[in-house]
Amino acid sequence: MNEMTTIDRTQREYSQAAKDFLARKPQLFINNEWVDSSHGQTIDVEDPSNGKVIGQIVDASDKDVDRAVAAARAAFDDNRWYGLAPMERERIILRIADLVEQNADLLAELEAIDNGKPKGMAMVADIPGAISHLRFMAGWAGKTGGQTLHPYTRPTGSIFGYTSKEPVGVCAQIVPWNFPLLMACLKIAPAIAAGCTTVLKPAEQTSLTTLKLADLIAEAGVPAGVVNIITGNGHTAGDRMVKHPDVDKIAFTGSTEIGKIINKNATDTMKRVTLELGGKSPVVVMPDVNVEEVAPGVASGIFFNSGQVCVAGSRLYAHRDVFDDVLEGMSKTASFWAPRASLDPEGHMGPLVSKEQHDRVMGYIEAGKRDGASVVMGGDAPTSDGGYYVSPTILADVNPQMSVVREEIFGPVVVAQRFDDLDEVAKSANDTCFGLAAGIWTRDVAAMHKLAAKLKAGTVWGNCHAMIDVALPFGGFKESGLGREQGLHGLDAYQETKTVIIQL
Ligand code: ADP
Repeated sequence: MNEMTTIDRTQREYSQAAKDFLARKPQLFINNEWVDSSHGQTIDVEDPSNGKVIGQIVDASDKDVDRAVAAARAAFDDNRWYGLAPMERERIILRIADLVEQNADLLAELEAIDNGKPKGMAMVADIPGAISHLRFMAGWAGKTGGQTLHPYTRPTGSIFGYTSKEPVGVCAQIVPWNFPLLMACLKIAPAIAAGCTTVLKPAEQTSLTTLKLADLIAEAGVPAGVVNIITGNGHTAGDRMVKHPDVDKIAFTGSTEIGKIINKNATDTMKRVTLELGGKSPVVVMPDVNVEEVAPGVASGIFFNSGQVCVAGSRLYAHRDVFDDVLEGMSKTASFWAPRASLDPEGHMGPLVSKEQHDRVMGYIEAGKRDGASVVMGGDAPTSDGGYYVSPTILADVNPQMSVVREEIFGPVVVAQRFDDLDEVAKSANDTCFGLAAGIWTRDVAAMHKLAAKLKAGTVWGNCHAMIDVALPFGGFKESGLGREQGLHGLDAYQETKTVIIQL
């Protein structure tokens, strides 16, 4: 653990391209133009690696939101996007993907500066992830349609019935700060592939890469008003988006707490809603595993992105026979995951996104200790030049009543418990209001399938964790969400089904 305290966490100098981007005037992207806010209020942008203010973004007013929604409404209603040949829409979305790829280095640096994640991680995870969503969804633009259906209660041939898939309309898309560009592309790609128009708001903590994406969207030839990017606070700008009468659909990724508020607020106008919310995902390690291979995988399942991942494997259940060895194996990864400044090329884990998040996570660790948990690894906030670092942390001697076991911490903190048999661990794993994801590590194929069937989670991983692929649907059971994103399910969330019945 000593090596962590000797790491130099001074942030590296930004590239000239990043400095130029940060020096831009804070503006909003509406109708493919950079426009001033109606009231000129801004939010500071901070580098979480040292807590320094490095720029400003607009804190959008109600008027700004209204202006963006009006632009999206007009672009939808006059058919300037959905009315194009699907081949052309596909080609434009593919062009956005190409431009993201060409700008990968700057985007990864901005993500590192803004969110705190290591630039190298952004290069291998966030940016390729964003590109894959755009490319996969682009292909659906030309492959939507409907079915011809025969009647059941009328004579065959007396009715011509068919369905048609149509875009839902104007979307309000609100995303969190943990994978900013990836989340923006994950939202925008299916919306515009389906023919919708959108207003997207990144999180107030991490708007930089989405603002850069706006440049690329215009450059790719997306018609004006189809994608509008506004920055601002959730309880003001986000709230206005959710309640706006001209918005047809809300897509939100964020906390369960805010997801519930949004779902209620969307009800009055019966907006279509998809929610991707929090989790407290269990990871089950069976006694047959090769611990040396599995322990680093389990560690990566919680420490990747500083544990600021909705699917983070934050509740470890290791079989009694391997419990100590798994914890020892995970502890050996401490120096790999030792937090470093986000532009340090040696880094695999950066600081947390903000002071608020740092204090929240440290508060949970302290609460865990007070409740009787023992610290197997980490548990501290390493010294730095004002950054928001938390050491990768393993807590043992916990029980299901503790807040560290029950609540989503959204930090690099895993709670470890022992189990003896499958039924017992399935019960413990399901003892949560969340149901986003779960992991199982075993070579026993029968045990894998039996447990996968018992776990109440939208995604179950076997011998891996947090493996996300745009072709595979993603979403939560229970309080972890509503609806599914990705794959054909993800496109469907942006479509209405129209049934046409013609008497012949
Ligand atoms: P986190 O806890 O990860 O910060 P939140 O759920 O608070 O996540 O925020 C995720 C996104 O939701 C952010 O873009 C934020 O601005 C937005 N948001 C927060 N509160 C509201 C709200 N009341 N209505 C709409 N959007 C909101």
